[in-house]
Amino acid sequence: TTFAELTTDYSVSEKLVQNIRKAGYETPTPIQMQAIPAMLQGRQVFACAPTGSGKTAAFLIPIIHCLRGPKKQGFRAVIVCPTRELAKQTYTETGRLTEGLGLRTHVINKVQQAVEKFGPKSSQKFDILITTPNKLVYLLKMEPPALNLTNVEWLIVDESDKLFESGVRGFRDQLAVIYSACSHQGLKRGMFSATHTEEVAKWVRKKVKGRVQITV
Ligand code: AMP
Repeated sequence: TTFAELTTDYSVSEKLVQNIRKAGYETPTPIQMQAIPAMLQGRQVFACAPTGSGKTAAFLIPIIHCLRGPKKQGFRAVIVCPTRELAKQTYTETGRLTEGLGLRTHVINKVQQAVEKFGPKSSQKFDILITTPNKLVYLLKMEPPALNLTNVEWLIVDESDKLFESGVRGFRDQLAVIYSACSHQGLKRGMFSATHTEEVAKWVRKKVKGRVQITV
């Protein structure tokens, strides 16, 4: 399998395939070979893939393809990361892969800035949001909520094992808040985890129905 085949098999744009090549990716890694086609077919996924396996591009490529349609109010994809550092890295990779595709990606840095940019007074359209759960939940719990996630089509939780470890109960509650803010009928969820933990597996069994399970 090659990245070029994404164009013939899934109508992925030449431009996106060019960006993949420009990033220096020649052949898909094992996680990419499994996750990309599954997500392009609209399947929800639960993937166990360590850092360094190419998991970020594995979820970014199908999401970017999925966002080729018309823009809508608020955000259309959300990526939740355990740390600011990982959020920054993911943002950089998103920038490379979305070059020239007209997508707007944001990372929440300061909460106040986010309220001004994305809050209820803003009628703007954004595309991809990358954030840690604390900041996201803080903004969602404001009255009225400072973020519109009703048009989110893809919600990815990256390194979910770390998030669940960081205080199991706390993150379960946060994830429930995030899931309910993403109220779009066709919402699809992706759960990525570096290791297989029972906490993540339990959540996924309950909340990510009809998923494809991938372990690399
Ligand atoms: P990740 O697992 O997402 O942290 O990715 C690890 C590193 O692999 C990143 O620096 C990526 O830029 C790189 N990478 C991702 N996909 C590929 C690929 N198909 N070929 C070569 N390098 C890749």
